[in-house]
Amino acid sequence: MVGRCNRCGGCCRSINLLGRGRWLRRAARYERMVAEAPEFARFRPAGRGDQGFLLFDCALLGDDHLCTAHDTRPALCRNYPSKSLYYRGGRLPDDCGYAFRAATFRDVLFGRKPRKPADFSAVLRREIQQDKDTQT
Ligand code: SF4
Ligand code: SF4
Repeated sequence: MVGRCNRCGGCCRSINLLGRGRWLRRAARYERMVAEAPEFARFRPAGRGDQGFLLFDCALLGDDHLCTAHDTRPALCRNYPSKSLYYRGGRLPDDCGYAFRAATFRDVLFGRKPRKPADFSAVLRREIQQDKDTQT
């Protein structure tokens, strides 16, 4: 994941919700979810996306695009955007400042700070000297 939040509020509108590991398709499933976890009542049905999944808008998004319940927002908001969104086939809102970026072989190979190779001659010289010192 690269980038940073530009506070566009896009992730609080037209969102898909997961219920038992699946994107919600049926209103009845959403209603059961709210009955089980009332914190989901903040998400109001707002139509259906291209793939047939239900879309929700959060009622707690302020006019300034900021969350009005920031301190008590649910885990799905706190962890957004998570890598699991990518692995579940989700996508980020168009204006989102974050982007998914796959690690390439070069990233893995050169991404870490190269370690300075050990100076074996210096270590050997030091140990030979220590041996000499203990024998005298
Ligand atoms: S609770 Fe806050 S962060 Fe979560 S969707 Fe609503 S407005 Fe956005
Ligand atoms: S869509 Fe992305 S940039 Fe916009 S508020 Fe959500 S995390 Fe931040």
